[in-house]
Formats: sequence, C-alpha cells, structure tokens
Amino acid sequence: MADVTLEKIVSLSKRRGFIFQSSEIYGGLNGAYDYGPLGVRLKNNIRDMWWKEMTQIHEDIVGLDASILMHPRVWEASGHVANFSDPMVDCKSCKSRFRTDQIDIEAPCPVCGNKNTFTEPRNFNLMFSTHIGAASDASSLIYLRPETAQGIYTEFKNVVASSRVKVPFGIAQVGKAFRNEITTKHFIFRSVEFEQMEMQWFCAPGTDEEWFDYWKAQRFAFYEKIGIRKSHLRWHQHGSDELAFYAKDAYDIQYLFPMGWQELEGVHNRTDYDLKQHQEFSGKDQTYLDPVSNERYLPYVVETSAGLTRNVLMALSDAYEEELLDDGETRTVLHFHPNIAPIMVAVLPLVKKDGIAEAAKELETSLREEFTTFFDVSGAIGRRYRRMDEIGTPYCITVDYQSLEDKSVTLRYRDSMEQVRIKMDEIVSVIKEANKNYKRVEK
Ligand code: ATP
Repeated sequence: MADVTLEKIVSLSKRRGFIFQSSEIYGGLNGAYDYGPLGVRLKNNIRDMWWKEMTQIHEDIVGLDASILMHPRVWEASGHVANFSDPMVDCKSCKSRFRTDQIDIEAPCPVCGNKNTFTEPRNFNLMFSTHIGAASDASSLIYLRPETAQGIYTEFKNVVASSRVKVPFGIAQVGKAFRNEITTKHFIFRSVEFEQMEMQWFCAPGTDEEWFDYWKAQRFAFYEKIGIRKSHLRWHQHGSDELAFYAKDAYDIQYLFPMGWQELEGVHNRTDYDLKQHQEFSGKDQTYLDPVSNERYLPYVVETSAGLTRNVLMALSDAYEEELLDDGETRTVLHFHPNIAPIMVAVLPLVKKDGIAEAAKELETSLREEFTTFFDVSGAIGRRYRRMDEIGTPYCITVDYQSLEDKSVTLRYRDSMEQVRIKMDEIVSVIKEANKNYKRVEK
C-alpha cells in the first residue's frame, strides 16, 4: 500500500473535480483555489457538521455571520495593524521574497544562488488592504479580515442584548478570511483566501481554565465524529515562544498531513484581552452584568479556531488509500465518513436495455429527497464501482433483471466491498442505520 503524498491528492482533486487552481487558464494565482463540484460538497458537509455540533448539539451557542469588511479601527484594537506581520527579506538580485524564519539569511539565495543579496529583514503585514468609497487615501483604507473572530467580539453586546443568552455562552461563525501569505506551498494548506470555523466562548473570569479543558476535549472528539483517524491527530501546546502575550494557554490540534504534523485548529484561552481592547479603542462599555452574582465584569474568552479549507485537505489526506486487493489489482478509495462524502449513493443499472436503466433512474430520483445521489450507466459495472470508490461514495446500488421482478437491488459497501441483496423500499432505512454505525477500519 503506497503512502499518500500531496501530489496524489492534488492530482485526484483536479482529475475528479474537488479542487482547482484559481484562474488556471491565465496561469493561476498563487495561494488561491476553486472548489469544484465535489469539493464544494465536501467543504459544505464539513461546515454543516461543525455548525450542527456547535449550534445544535451545544445549546448555549448562537450563530453569527459578520461582514468581511470592518471599520479599520477594529484591526488597530486587535493588534493586527501593529503585529500581524512576518519578518521578510528580499533578494536584491532575483527579487524573490522569503520569511526569515524559513531560510538561512547567511547562506546564498535559494532561488538564484547569489551571495550577500538579501535586504535587511523588514516586517511585512499579512493583511490585504483596499479602499472604501471614491477616495483612495489614508482615510479610506480598510482591510480584508485576516480572521473571523473580531466580528464576534464587536457584536458581543448586540448578541447579549438581543438573544437572551447568559454568560457562559458562545458565538459561532464560519466565513472567509484573507492573509497575504508569502509561503503558499502545500496546496490548500496555507492559502491567501480561506475559510475559518470559529467559536468564541464567553465565560466568567475564574471559570476560564475549566472551560478551556472542556472545549479542548469537545473539539478533539469532533474529529473522530467526522471519521478522522485518531492515530493521525495529536495535541501541541504552545511554548512560551509561541504563546501570544495576552493568551493564558493555547493548544493546537495537529493532524499528520502528508508533509508532516501541522496545525489544524487552535484552542486558546484569550483572557479578556479582546473585549478590553475594543472597549478601550471604541470607548464603548463591553462589560457584562451577571444576573446571578450581580457582578459586572469583562468576560474571558475561550476560542476554538479551525480552518475549514484546511479541514478539507485533512479529510482528503485521511481518506485516501491505494488498496491492494486479493486479485492483485489496486484500487484508489477515499474512506470518507458518509456524513461528509460528496455523494452518498450511486445508482447503477447493470445493463442499459430491457427497461433496467429506466427503473434505476426512477429509483435514483426517488432517493434524492434523502441523499445526494449519482446515476451512472456507462462502462462495465466494476469500473463504475471503482469510479465511485475514488470519490468516496459509501454506497452503490445496482439494479438488475431480478429488480424488475421482485423490487430487490444489490447494495455494495465501499470500504468492505461487501454486497447484499435488499428490497428497494428498505434502502433509506438500511443506509441511515449504516451511517449511524459507520466506523472506519484502521489498517
Ligand atoms: P500559522 O501559524 O500556520 O500561520 P496561525 O497560528 O496564524 O497559523 P490562526 O491565526 O490560529 O493560525 O488561525 C486559526 C486556523 O485558521 C488555523 O488553525 C488554520 O486551520 C486556519 N488558517 C490560518 N491561516 C490559514 C491559511 N493561510 N490558509 C488556510 N488556513 C489557515
């Protein structure tokens, strides 16, 4: 069984319509990607699982969809204008730009090989800026948000006033964020435009450490719920060199990507830093009057911050397998958890003639209210199974001559390739039951 590599994921993604390079016909744009027909379903399914987990299973979390463009003072208050930067050097000879923590600035330029060509390190802010309105001077300068969290902090008071929530409670949000990343290798792992799934948990000072432990456990368990192998997940605690100056504690959930262990999600104890900053910069009171203790305080915040698009890369990498079969052949299969699979059920007529294709089409149409479906008539049945394996479709239903007689079909399971004969009117309940009990067999 060959190991999964990033090249294989990139190639499958393009071939089967998961992810394309943005503006490819013009030579592409570095760090920007388009999610194709299957990719957008995979991404939306992960997003929906997260949203359900946070706002439905946890009853004390409400949703928000804040604007990407915000008042520029937000980013002064948050510290992004002053601090959200990487130290960079430029090569004076070939004009390449590098993060100083990623190269040896004493060595020759890794692109052109010339020596002593680097400029002095300069801080390069990662926020994209643009202008609002007709003027394009300093007064109209605004930013594309580099994280979704600040929209949550600035709406804290409005949510409290309008939603009957009481501390402790959370606000969840999924949305785009933008960073002018210099190093955009590793496919969608680090892109300039990406999506985040963030939840800020507002709690009373003194209860923050307990909530921090609670959310750590909840977030780790989520990845098992969407079928990610536990062996490929681990915690990484921020050391004193990584910890933001205001943060009390921070852990990353790391995933074993094809290029190694890397951050997937951060769980941070941000103290009352953000609300305090916004209170100071806006001049508007951000305190909360606790109806039980009658105390007024600035809530502490435990943040869970995950990359949605980075989750997509994890899901593809985790699911990918080139499996050596008993007959000596190899099949490429994506072992997605059914809840995130782009297509749940493929309906395949064994042959086109004698009314079998029509019966299969009718069956496929009838399943659409329940599942995402796909109908495929072309090619040998074995090849059609393989095509579905390669995009991670957990169930294939084959309609044959017997189906016309007794309304039974063959249900084939993707992972085990086991085939069972069931009645057409049992399909929905059998699949729902199988989904509930789905467990990836770790090899
Ligand atoms: P890094 O140190 O890798 O630049 P970070 O620690 O700055 O990341 P956070 O600001 O904590 O990342 O962002 C929270 C989450 O958002 C990350 O765990 C990651 O999943 C996602 N994320 C951050 N930057 C990017 C990016 N450029 N592309 C895709 N996802 C990203």
